[in-house]
Amino acid sequence: MANSTNNFDIAVIGAGPGGSFAAKASAEMGYKTLLIDKEQIRESGRYKACGGAIAWELVEEINYPEDKIARVIESLELHHVDGEDFSKKGKGAVIWRSTFDKFLTDIAIESGAILKEKEMLIYIEKNNDIYRIRTKNENYNAKYVIAADGVTSPTLKLLKWPYFEKENLILTITKEMKTTNSYINKILGSDTVHLFFGIKNLIQIGYAWLFPKAETITVGWGNQINLVKNSRIEFDKFVSLPFVKTALKDSNLEIFKPHLIPVGLRPKLYEDNVFAVGDAGGIVDPISGKGIPYAMMSGQFAIEAINTGEKRDKPDKLGTFYEKSLDRKFLKILKAKRVARDRIFQNDESLKKFLSLWEKYRSSQIVMGKMI
Ligand SMILES: Cc1cc2nc3c(=O)[nH]c(=O)nc-3n(C[C@H](O)[C@H](O)[C@H](O)COP(=O)(O)OP(=O)(O)OC[C@H]3O[C@@H](n4cnc5c(N)ncnc54)[C@H](O)[C@@H]3O)c2cc1C
Repeated sequence: MANSTNNFDIAVIGAGPGGSFAAKASAEMGYKTLLIDKEQIRESGRYKACGGAIAWELVEEINYPEDKIARVIESLELHHVDGEDFSKKGKGAVIWRSTFDKFLTDIAIESGAILKEKEMLIYIEKNNDIYRIRTKNENYNAKYVIAADGVTSPTLKLLKWPYFEKENLILTITKEMKTTNSYINKILGSDTVHLFFGIKNLIQIGYAWLFPKAETITVGWGNQINLVKNSRIEFDKFVSLPFVKTALKDSNLEIFKPHLIPVGLRPKLYEDNVFAVGDAGGIVDPISGKGIPYAMMSGQFAIEAINTGEKRDKPDKLGTFYEKSLDRKFLKILKAKRVARDRIFQNDESLKKFLSLWEKYRSSQIVMGKMI
């Protein structure tokens, strides 16, 4: 099947963290692997709205070069808008997504995946057990498809998979504000990210943030989409908080970008040799919105499921293999967090209880230990 130039074993649509990690795993296992993205994957490539916060464990695991890190973080300040503050220690990094995504895509290419960039998927259908994939430039064939093309996943839309419930989508606004390194260090601290919560006065289900990079502050706001009345007014309400106003004093707007975060799973994650990974599947922490490591792991698990299914000659069990490894590693916890999230954000009292517990424990410990 995978002989002619445009025939592949596995086609991965989307070269974000989920797609690149899937393509790496796939090529390493010897599958002829296609990796398609509609954008050009460059360090100074298209801007992706993201806080860019990752745990130090991930930096170490992928050997992410320190010179590509925008800022090393040692603590998380959790502000409630009524003035109560909480503080959480923990090492992490803030990265620019174009740099990070390029790093992962390069690894996939080095592993043997064939990257086709600036190729937008426009059509996909199954014909004689093979997926026919059409981009603006070319036609490809593949036995398996990894949908890693983000929250709106054109792949899954074209295949008519069901979309997310409104309660499982967070509308975000991100602004990149240029300032100086010394001002960031003075006002926000040299190694601190800031999160802002407050149901009555700010956001019902979600939070806002100031993530410092080298000379830029990423200003973000996110609220459950069906609770948003006017996103710009709500975002401005956050930006006019005294602390935020001071932090952004004399800074210049460089980028403005709205984007969605899925915080609950898509109704299905697998069907007929197609896997939904990362944001396409809604595989994101429902409380924090952290999605990068889950996208990477789900990409890898999808490929492992294909491999296990082929080795054991169980083609009808691919979905089960995939969901079992997701569950074992983290999905059970994310599902429990999705339930806990509504409890945490139901009023300021339970929100503050969560923030005070979060100072000392991981959110997974709080939720799985039923502390809230
Ligand atoms: C405002 C905001 C802040 C966030 N902050 C953090 C954070 O601090 N830490 C964290 O861990 N997570 C964060 N996240 C979540 C994180 O960004 C996502 O979970 C992560 O990007 C998911 O990776 P992915 O590979 O699944 O999808 P994506 O990164 O969305 O990649 C999808 C890829 O598919 C490509 N594509 C789309 N359509 C097509 C098409 N038709 N044809 C070909 N290619 C296509 C896109 O160009 C893109 O490269 C944040 C998200 C948002 C919106």
